[in-house]
Amino acid sequence: MTEVSITPAPVGEHLPAVRQAASPMTAGGPWTVAAVQALLERPLMDLLFEAQTVHRQNFPEGDIELATLLSVKTGGCSENCGYCPQAAEYDTGVKASKLMAVDEVLRAAQAAKDAGATRFCMGAAWRAPKDRDVEKVAELVEAVKGLGLQTCATLGMLEAHQAQQLKDAGLDYYNHNLDTAPEYYGAVVDTRSYQDRLDTLAHVRSAGISVCCGGIVGMGEAPVHRAGLIAELANLNPYPESVPINNLVRVPGTPLADADPIDPIDFVRVIAVARITMPRARVRLSAGRQQLGEAVQALCFMAGANSIFYGDKLLVTGNPDAQADLKLLHKLGLKARSISEKACGKQIETEAACA
Ligand code: SF4
Repeated sequence: MTEVSITPAPVGEHLPAVRQAASPMTAGGPWTVAAVQALLERPLMDLLFEAQTVHRQNFPEGDIELATLLSVKTGGCSENCGYCPQAAEYDTGVKASKLMAVDEVLRAAQAAKDAGATRFCMGAAWRAPKDRDVEKVAELVEAVKGLGLQTCATLGMLEAHQAQQLKDAGLDYYNHNLDTAPEYYGAVVDTRSYQDRLDTLAHVRSAGISVCCGGIVGMGEAPVHRAGLIAELANLNPYPESVPINNLVRVPGTPLADADPIDPIDFVRVIAVARITMPRARVRLSAGRQQLGEAVQALCFMAGANSIFYGDKLLVTGNPDAQADLKLLHKLGLKARSISEKACGKQIETEAACA
């Protein structure tokens, strides 16, 4: 690819992103919060240009991952995350249910695959699963993996041996979000600590599972907290392979139901800065995409987002209709990534145009 020269950001001591674009995943940091905030405050066109340049140096043009999320065990959670309708203590109308059976999950996974998804994420509303829960999820992972899908699970806090058990079952990714900056964390949840989150991420890494870790914006946080979140993520060593950025869905009955929504342009800025600071991560437009509209989503893709949650429902909140997503990708000239199996059984990633 032709080398592009970019004038370094006027503020902030970090290297301009284009110089680290080809770096391995271990070379993302360290980023100071001030340096990330300086990036967030750059003129929008400069920021978008830099983010798109970094993006093109690290990913094929127009390649978008489609990931489908299924709630395999809904509601009744003992944590008090202020954004979450699945917390038992909030009256949100979410009905608690038990862990789904293997055949039920397999049907959903097959449907997701048939619709073009390449990654299937299973979410369970636990504070921390018991060993017997992990055993059952391991069965789900093995079954879904057998369909040729990448597997991801989000089950709450994990012990080291539980992470290893999931790895042995074939789990590719484990999702565990940092949610926000350490300084704002206590305003969002107080039934667990930031260090608890980091400990689980360390167990997942040690087991050899790829990390999916991001956060939520629009929870009433200040811009410095957005910068703090991105700095935390980018300074994980290595930084996460997948970085979901959620736009808070304000669910009635949750403590954050009346939080001020984030300005859509500020949301785009967060995506761009995630791309610049974590050049090789899949940056995923996650919850709250429905609220952004097509034009803002297009800006997010320009800013380096290259993964979306795909399917009509997330864990318990709405998501754009799958057909509408395919139409949008087509309209923008983007391509959905697909995974196929080589004769040796190894999964390879290819691209499929979506029409
Ligand atoms: S986000 Fe997860 S841990 Fe927090 S209340 Fe919801 S289900 Fe429980």
